Amino acid sequence: MQHHFSLKSLNTFGLDVYAKHYFSLLDIQQLTDLNNISDFRTNRLILGGGSNVLFTKDFDGLVIHNELKGKKIVFEDDNIVQLKVAAGENWHELVLFTIENNWGGIENLSLIPGKVGASPMQNIGAYGVELKDVFLELEAWNIQKQQIEVFDKAKCEFGYRESIFKNSAKDQYIILSVTLELQKHPKINIAYGAIEAVLNSKKISSPSIKDVSDAVIEIRQSKLPNPTVIGNAGSFFKNPYISKTQYLQLQKEYPTIPSYPVDDLTVKVPAGWLIDQAGWKGKRFGDYGVHKNQALVLVNYGSAKGQDIAHLAAKIQMDILKKYQIELQTEVNFY
Ligand code: FAD
Ligand code: NAP
Repeated sequence: MQHHFSLKSLNTFGLDVYAKHYFSLLDIQQLTDLNNISDFRTNRLILGGGSNVLFTKDFDGLVIHNELKGKKIVFEDDNIVQLKVAAGENWHELVLFTIENNWGGIENLSLIPGKVGASPMQNIGAYGVELKDVFLELEAWNIQKQQIEVFDKAKCEFGYRESIFKNSAKDQYIILSVTLELQKHPKINIAYGAIEAVLNSKKISSPSIKDVSDAVIEIRQSKLPNPTVIGNAGSFFKNPYISKTQYLQLQKEYPTIPSYPVDDLTVKVPAGWLIDQAGWKGKRFGDYGVHKNQALVLVNYGSAKGQDIAHLAAKIQMDILKKYQIELQTEVNFY
């Protein structure tokens, strides 16, 4: 246990905040001992890679840094492999490991920062693939009951950047491991145009999962700010789902507004487009602002405070509501 511990290097916004207490969780056995600490029972935060959090102040409690390591095959046959991965493993290193073994399923999720344990939290997604597409089950520590529980896919209540762990089970569990089911004869998913465009430019007509991963990495590196250079937590807002009726209304005023179908009655509108059109892209206020290439990403250029970024987010939300009558929801978790 350490005290007054700097979290600056443990959050990708690079915010200079402190935890009252800090504990690095290396072994599941340590959980029973932690239960004797009052902050563990009442005032704790489980931290993975810190790539989806905004600290608006110091954390006045116990930060548990998940560093549980290990992965093992729990089942395999000619077609599939089920891989159980400890929550503290790095997500992108896991993706590279599956590609080395030619196990398909998570190649589109290349280069997402953070740890495996956080991947079910918001059902991470990119380029047409979500965690739930390969998810089998997870083990989580029930903090109240002090026991391990198994969650299958249905019990996780996955949605668009959502799960039970962001809703009714919020703050009640520590995810310990995640088991994925991957394909030994991978099916390629290049439905998102950008991947296909990169593959075409390289004249790759029957891509491997490594080709897809390389394309995703190339696109991401060209578009997204690297958090080790400019502090950020990726997309700050979720892409809103709106009714088709509202969309058709908006289209009268904004003929180029893009949309993607969700179901017969609903469409998804890219939040980045709304924010860009409203004039926020590239706006800088001192040491914080909206990224110049990606309007969905709020950035810390150096010594911004979490409060500054939270205020900017609130202003953007108000403006988008006023202009388009759309409520933007934050994707990033505030503390
Ligand atoms: P943290 O930021 O450490 O934690 C996030 C939340 O999960 C917190 O509420 C935390 O308390 C909770 N949590 C973490 N671990 C556990 C655990 N073991 N048990 C219980 N609760 C836990 N996200 C996407 O979905 N798709 C993307 O394409 C994507 N791209 C990104 C690109 C960049 C440049 C950045 C900076 C972020 C991006 N993100 C993306 C967001 C983020 O990387 C993911 O959501 C990632 O899964 C967060 O992992 P983490 O370990 O950093 O979580
Ligand atoms: P983009 O390609 O510029 O597209 C803008 C938005 O349109 C995306 O957010 C995406 O929604 C949606 N979209 C594009 N093509 C689509 C299709 N064929 N079908 C359905 N929806 C489509 O997006 P980008 O910002 O460069 O991001 C690329 C991918 O990486 C996206 O999937 C995005 O979610 C992911 N990403 C996520 C984060 C994060 O922090 N969450 C950060 C960076 C990138 P979806 O977001 O629903 O896919």
